[in-house]
Amino acid sequence: MDINCTEKELFLLKKIAHAAADLEMPCFVIGGFVRDKLLDRPTKDADIVCVGDGIDLAHRVAERFQPKPQVAFYKNFGTAALRIDDFEIEFVGARKESYRYHSRNPEVAPGTLEEDQLRRDFTINAMAISLNQPDYGSLIDPFGGQKDLADRIIRTPLEPGQTFSDDPLRMLRAIRFASQLEFQIDPHTWEGICLHVDRIKIISQERITEELNKILLSRKPSVGLDLLYQSGILHIIFPQMVDLAGAEYIDGMGHKDNFYHTLQVIDNISANTDDLWLRWAALLHDIGKPPTKKFEQGHGWTFHGHEVVGGRMVPRIFTRLKLPQNEKMRYVRKLVELHLRPISLTKENITDSAIRRLLFDAGDDIEDLMMLCSADITSKNKFKVKRYLENFNMVRQRLAEVEEKDRMRNWQPPITGELIMEVFSLPPGKLVGEIKNAIREAILDGDIENSYEAAYGLMVKKAAEHNLHPIQ
Ligand code: ATP
Repeated sequence: MDINCTEKELFLLKKIAHAAADLEMPCFVIGGFVRDKLLDRPTKDADIVCVGDGIDLAHRVAERFQPKPQVAFYKNFGTAALRIDDFEIEFVGARKESYRYHSRNPEVAPGTLEEDQLRRDFTINAMAISLNQPDYGSLIDPFGGQKDLADRIIRTPLEPGQTFSDDPLRMLRAIRFASQLEFQIDPHTWEGICLHVDRIKIISQERITEELNKILLSRKPSVGLDLLYQSGILHIIFPQMVDLAGAEYIDGMGHKDNFYHTLQVIDNISANTDDLWLRWAALLHDIGKPPTKKFEQGHGWTFHGHEVVGGRMVPRIFTRLKLPQNEKMRYVRKLVELHLRPISLTKENITDSAIRRLLFDAGDDIEDLMMLCSADITSKNKFKVKRYLENFNMVRQRLAEVEEKDRMRNWQPPITGELIMEVFSLPPGKLVGEIKNAIREAILDGDIENSYEAAYGLMVKKAAEHNLHPIQ
């Protein structure tokens, strides 16, 4: 074998080879599996291409296992898939493709292995390993994929213009692989991308967002994000990000380039977390800056309220990008809205009540928020960074102390709306909310103790202001 497989993978490939031999059908393992093996990256699936009917082969392979795995197949596409334990195997007949300009769906016809390799997106993704006698296990690499792997290059096997015009998603895939593998895009391939950027418009949002998420999950997402920006693709798929770019100057006073600042923040946070949604929060933390930007005479550039405006933009951006409209979105919004709070605590005398409020507002996401804020420190001035981090550690310490004392993280005020309604025989309404809020604020401000008795006392007092008294 020209690639290093595990015992289990070798066993699976042998089974496939025997099933294909029975059908007298040439077959190969191709694409990402071969690439990742040669790169020594982990693999969790394999694509099998055969010269014949892929669905037929999948069924024959399934029959060789006990218990027999289920074969999922799609007659229209001629593809089939089965899973052995946690390993997914996909089967397809070799095909050649021709594209019509306005459609993202190619016309496909059965083809040879060579024709199939030609329709692959990049040389590093077009390599195959034979599963046939007499050359079982040997690498078939017609476009120099192995050399490109060694040189860390993303290159199309065909003329780039054709590859990208046929399926514009490949432009995003090129950038995603450059980011994931930390490879360079070959200059000619890059030119092809820049020329066909507009074609990205025919690609479905789901496929675009899948690639965007993969870029965000790479070790240094800035690599992919900057390539998206440089190519002009970002202008089409995520214009709000592009609005962050550039620095404006008035009377010799400028502000930092918030696009490159954001990229730095993402890279910083990615060194500490693999969580996609925390990385999204880093990407969006300053998204409210362009719409709030002002130049104030004698003072300079301000972005007042950008965290609130940014927070409000999150649901719209999630909708447009077809990201989930659930607690993940609310989490990202919350972090965007709160991202200045810990920093503001380093600038004033920190009162217990300010710390309590932050713990209450952030709840269980306080650690993530602190991680985002540390990542947000991107000053080039080492002394400044050191001072910020020291102040930050002080805030962390105070957070821990107040949490230990007051347990605010998952705190709920001791008096509920139901209790207020019951005690005063009130229907649901504004007054119930007012009394409830007054109690919460008084506890957060430290005006009354965080106890049921103190809260009950305040409830009775507030109600009395409205001529209401407990019903006996
Ligand atoms: P990953 O699993 O990280 O997404 P992959 O390369 O395995 O990477 P798949 O989407 O599973 O990606 O694709 C498997 C193979 O199919 C690729 O290696 C490539 O040969 C081919 N391929 C996938 N998408 C395209 C495309 N849009 N155009 C041409 N070939 C493609």
